[in-house]
Amino acid sequence: MFCSKCGKEQQEGSRFCAQCGQEIGKHAASSTVPQKKSGLQDFGEMAARTAAESVKSQTRSQISRVVGDIFRTIFKR
Ligand SMILES: [Zn+2]
Repeated sequence: MFCSKCGKEQQEGSRFCAQCGQEIGKHAASSTVPQKKSGLQDFGEMAARTAAESVKSQTRSQISRVVGDIFRTIFKR
């Protein structure tokens, strides 16, 4: 599961984001990580959309940073 606000990956069972304090699962309807799905690209698009939504009032460079964090998290595995 990933934070819906900052995109940080969360430990299973966490109620609040360790990074920004956002309540995990508050907007979790579509943020469940499709771990069994092999389509990394699909997930990347979803993550980018989620990040863009969560920071849509902020600047594009901040969006890029959040998306970058998400991708680093993915490829670290
Ligand atoms: Zn967060």
